[in-house]
Amino acid sequence: MYLKTLTLRGFKSFASATALRFEPGITCVVGPNGSGKSNVVDALAWVMGEHSAKSLRGGKMEDVIFAGTSSRPPLGRAEVTLTIDNTDGALPIDYTEVTISRLMFRSGQSEYAINGDTCRLLDIQELLSDSGIGREMHVIVGQGQLDQVLHAGPEERRAFIEEAAGVLKHRKRKEKALRK
Ligand code: ATP
Ligand code: MG
Repeated sequence: MYLKTLTLRGFKSFASATALRFEPGITCVVGPNGSGKSNVVDALAWVMGEHSAKSLRGGKMEDVIFAGTSSRPPLGRAEVTLTIDNTDGALPIDYTEVTISRLMFRSGQSEYAINGDTCRLLDIQELLSDSGIGREMHVIVGQGQLDQVLHAGPEERRAFIEEAAGVLKHRKRKEKALRK
């Protein structure tokens, strides 16, 4: 499984449709300060189901929509589409290529789709949850996060390790079952 393409339209500084194509292996995004490198990473997190505006470096979710510049008016919607190669079947769905998309209007209304079929945010989160990617997985290491791990107390550090080992979700399920 690897990320194949990411298309942004009206997302943050990407007013015009912008398509990025990745190959298996390492991809580097380089550019001057403020050119939109982190916005690309925000788009990845967003399409994979991020619902914290703060994690996307904004005050409210609407901040992901292109806000306009001196030469270009603001847009009314942001859309991000991610295509994932699934020839190894890592995602529990019968397709060798999986496309997930997320669209948001200024009204706050959102739309989600898997392979073009409208779905819920939860469906996207569930599709990705066992694959090692997705919202709560620490697949995106932000600036300053390494410091956070180094300065974490034993409990927090244990949670990082349990998550990486894939046991955290079982512990959460066990705790939930015991509460019932
Ligand atoms: P650095 O090297 O400093 O980390 P970067 O390449 O990661 O820079 P980003 O943080 O991705 O840069 O991009 C910042 C730019 O995105 C700023 O110019 C900011 O104005 C613009 N931006 C962020 N949100 C929006 C939005 N909603 N509409 C228009 N532009 C936006
Ligand atoms: Mg940056």
